[in-house]
Amino acid sequence: MEFKQSLYDVVIIGAGPAGATAAALLAQAGKSVLVLERQHFPRFSIGESLLPQCMAFLDEAGLLERVVKHADELGFQFKDGAAFYHNGEHVNFDFQKKSSVGPGTTYQVKRERFDKLLIEGAAEFGAEVYHGLTVQAVNFDNADYVSVTVEHDADGQQYHIKGRYLLDASGFGRVLPRLLDLEYPSDFPVRQAAFCHVKTDLTGGRFDRQKILITTHPDEPEIWFWTIPFADGTASLGVVGGVEFFAHNKDAKDALWQRVNEEPYLRKVLGDCEVTRPEQFITGYSANVRTLYGDRFALLGNAGEFLDPVFSSGVTIAMKSSSIAVPLVIRELNGEQVDWENEYSARLRKGISTFHTFVKGWYDTRFQDVIYFKQQHPEVKAMICSILAGYAWDESNPYVRESERRLGVLAELCQPVSPE
Ligand SMILES: Cc1cc2nc3c(=O)[nH]c(=O)nc-3n(C[C@H](O)[C@H](O)[C@H](O)COP(=O)(O)OP(=O)(O)OC[C@H]3O[C@@H](n4cnc5c(N)ncnc54)[C@H](O)[C@@H]3O)c2cc1C
Repeated sequence: MEFKQSLYDVVIIGAGPAGATAAALLAQAGKSVLVLERQHFPRFSIGESLLPQCMAFLDEAGLLERVVKHADELGFQFKDGAAFYHNGEHVNFDFQKKSSVGPGTTYQVKRERFDKLLIEGAAEFGAEVYHGLTVQAVNFDNADYVSVTVEHDADGQQYHIKGRYLLDASGFGRVLPRLLDLEYPSDFPVRQAAFCHVKTDLTGGRFDRQKILITTHPDEPEIWFWTIPFADGTASLGVVGGVEFFAHNKDAKDALWQRVNEEPYLRKVLGDCEVTRPEQFITGYSANVRTLYGDRFALLGNAGEFLDPVFSSGVTIAMKSSSIAVPLVIRELNGEQVDWENEYSARLRKGISTFHTFVKGWYDTRFQDVIYFKQQHPEVKAMICSILAGYAWDESNPYVRESERRLGVLAELCQPVSPE
């Protein structure tokens, strides 16, 4: 196997959304970029409902046109909002009514198709992309380059690759957090999701295919379901809860369908659906790190912090991390001093912290009280809608600027009135 260069400006680990957007941005800036991906694409990934905010990052990376052009052929489902359901209450958030400036629509995507489209776009811009190469070790001893050891899955052969800068976009692979001992526990408890794909026309109930449906379990508010339709007549279906809720289930199939059967509306919406991708579990996905950067490296997307799936923020955060980090990497490669703490970590973590507040509020039910409150003020709803649309870095929104305090006050005002 031959690499085109003996020394790259930037080596990127992982070709998911974070790696692909970073590679596209760097290649267009004229930097030599090598992307090392252990899997062969197309490959399945969870994380199928995008947020409108990420369309702005795709645009910045020169990849939006490509996504829009191939959306129909790849079965990307046009998405304009989020719908919530709990015990007879339906609430819709129309993303086009958000308070923040920026795109108000997006897609729900089968990630094997979406991720392949993005990394091929990055390759067209000049990034060198290799599949089947697993990063096993890194070495920062030489002052002029970082050395990355990879193993090729075809023959087990090892290669040593040199880059002036290393970006870890390895997602749940968490390569640098493991190798450099950067792992830091998430403050969320260990939760689990059981999910599958189904074929269903989703015509039962008031289902709107253009919205993700989040359904709260009728009796256990900490358990919720996602239904994410794709344009090809299939949908992603999942249930999430603390591990203790699934302890008695014998497998993911049992866990998912037992819970679905406890929720009459969802059962009706799904009808007699056929499972097209088998049920599986994913457990303990929330993760954090002690630092998002260090000498000649930075962590992007899930390789850094991952919160929770409830507001579909993962891909948006992944792309935001690339959007902030790449200009800083370019400045550093040009010999400039970069204040990674303030210019990267603090900026990225601002939006993550906004999502964190609302995720925490979802599980302690304060945010559910807000979502399901009937007399929502339109202006407040527009601001909440902005956050659900991914505009978690928009400091003109008071629910971003002071998320904890504002959510607390709003939740008080939205308390359900208990019947006398
Ligand atoms: C249950 C659940 C539901 C979710 N739902 C949503 C959702 O609806 N919307 C949303 O936006 N997000 C969702 N997410 C989050 C989303 O999956 C991730 O945030 C997103 O995929 C992160 O992108 P990334 O580029 O950082 O990493 P990834 O997409 O995970 O890409 C990382 C890549 O790195 C490669 N890699 C790993 N290790 C190595 C190695 N050693 N060497 C070489 N390559 C390596 C992997 O093969 C992979 O291709 C969900 C997450 C969970 C757990």
